[in-house]
Amino acid sequence: MKKIAVFPGSFDPITKGHESVIKRALPLFDELYIAVGMNAEKKSFFGLAPRMEWIKKVFINIEKVKVIQYEGLTVDLCKKLGAQYLLRGLRTSADFEFERSIAQINKKLFPDIETVFFLTAPEYASLNSSIVRDILRHGGNASQFVPDGVNLTVPGK
Ligand code: ADP
Repeated sequence: MKKIAVFPGSFDPITKGHESVIKRALPLFDELYIAVGMNAEKKSFFGLAPRMEWIKKVFINIEKVKVIQYEGLTVDLCKKLGAQYLLRGLRTSADFEFERSIAQINKKLFPDIETVFFLTAPEYASLNSSIVRDILRHGGNASQFVPDGVNLTVPGK
């Protein structure tokens, strides 16, 4: 049976932290869906299209990576795709508490799913998408925090 994983997130935008988790997880799976969430209540800074394009560009040469959009319950997406694994990253103990409850609830909703956690690489432990957005909002250069080839353009500028 193919090992299929879903990495859900807002990727607003993708950072080197996400890229590192994805690359390190790749050997474990036959297919990895990077699922970019559309959340009606949480308005994203970047539009869905550029968020997806940047991720596609980073993984263009890796056939087993697929970039999709989704809304609704993550476990419903996993059922639809036939995925047995969810991929998430952990940076801090706060991440752990947050991720633990989501993973345990997802397991209740869909007992066939296992969440696999990757510890952040130490150099990316302080990195998150909101820091990147803040730098851009204030006119700074965030290119060192995002994967090579990702040229962030600030919405409305
Ligand atoms: P969400 O909005 O659900 O937090 P994100 O796009 O921010 O989605 O993150 C998706 C996943 O990537 C989460 O599991 C998060 O912990 C992980 N992640 C984000 N940044 C890093 C990083 N620097 N190192 C490791 N994991 C990370």
